[in-house]
Amino acid sequence: MADDLEAAGTATSYSGATSAASPRERSRPRGAGRGLYDLDRTDLSHLLADQPPYRVNQVWEALYAKAALPEEMTNLPLSLRSRLADHAPAALRTVAESVSSDGQTVKWLWEGSDRARVETVLMCYPDRATVCVSSQAGCAMGCTFCATGQGGLARQLSSGEILEQVAHARRRARTRRVTNIVFMGMGEPLANYERVWASIERMNADMGISARHITVSTVGIVPGIRRLSHESLPVNLAVSLHAANDALRDRLVPINRRYGLDALVEACRQYRSVKNRRLSFEWALIDGVNDRRSDAAELARIATGLAAHVNVIPLNPTDGFATRGTPPDGVRRFRDLLSSMGVAVTVRRNRGTDIEAACGQLAARAAQPSPPA
Ligand code: SF4
Repeated sequence: MADDLEAAGTATSYSGATSAASPRERSRPRGAGRGLYDLDRTDLSHLLADQPPYRVNQVWEALYAKAALPEEMTNLPLSLRSRLADHAPAALRTVAESVSSDGQTVKWLWEGSDRARVETVLMCYPDRATVCVSSQAGCAMGCTFCATGQGGLARQLSSGEILEQVAHARRRARTRRVTNIVFMGMGEPLANYERVWASIERMNADMGISARHITVSTVGIVPGIRRLSHESLPVNLAVSLHAANDALRDRLVPINRRYGLDALVEACRQYRSVKNRRLSFEWALIDGVNDRRSDAAELARIATGLAAHVNVIPLNPTDGFATRGTPPDGVRRFRDLLSSMGVAVTVRRNRGTDIEAACGQLAARAAQPSPPA
């Protein structure tokens, strides 16, 4: 696991130590192209050096407030739109798009210039929308029930690639305002800390998304949680717990062998007391594995001690896995057990089953050869 973490670029991030690379280089992982959302204002003013100074604000506003594509920036001369499109093309290209049967959930599979693949999900509600973004192409954490975990880590995403996912989803949401962002797509956000945090700062400052509506999910990178508690923006923390004893969690979530439950609970306690933000635990219910009465009792002990909300999610079926999600009556029983033990619990509607929205599933499916015609 130590090697995995090094590969994920986390070693310096944990300690906060500075690496030899410049901030700009660090913002651009190896293999990532340089799209418009990877440019900062200084880059943009270089690109527009022959233009009146107000052009930088005009383009910035179009990118962040309106999520416009260069060709849609009709207040710019045509030659300038072409220059933007040529010098900073989209970093991600659409490989596949799936829409749920009710039309309210859209999932995209993207490909970077190096062919690394990532996914984004847009979930629409009557008056708003939530975007679930990926923070890495693949993931090094190796959770045993996860399709992405099977494939390992391809590379980190740049901040611009994360922001581009949000911009694309905002365009698709049309009149519905994207109010919430969750880092629950591919990857472990705290293993790509600096780029994830840079993207959060820009979502907040330039896209107008409240930090209180941004949720960072982690499988339990304890130093990353501690670091998050020192940041200025009060984002929500979601911990993918899935097991509440070390023996089972070691098996399901291998990072637990490095940062065990005691350390994780302590880091969550610190986050809550410093930030006073909502803490939630995600619990993917796996039939016969973590849906027993004893699992509920262990989870309740931890959740009530931290006043954490528990989101129970029936595991999406995944090709190639013997494990399967708890059936609906078992999900209700587990929810009622937790409730009776004083836990605030929600069964998260599984919005993705019919479009393969479990983490990594669309990428896995797209990688399969097409059936013969
Ligand atoms: S569940 Fe999340 S952290 Fe675990 S392997 Fe999958 S993407 Fe990575």
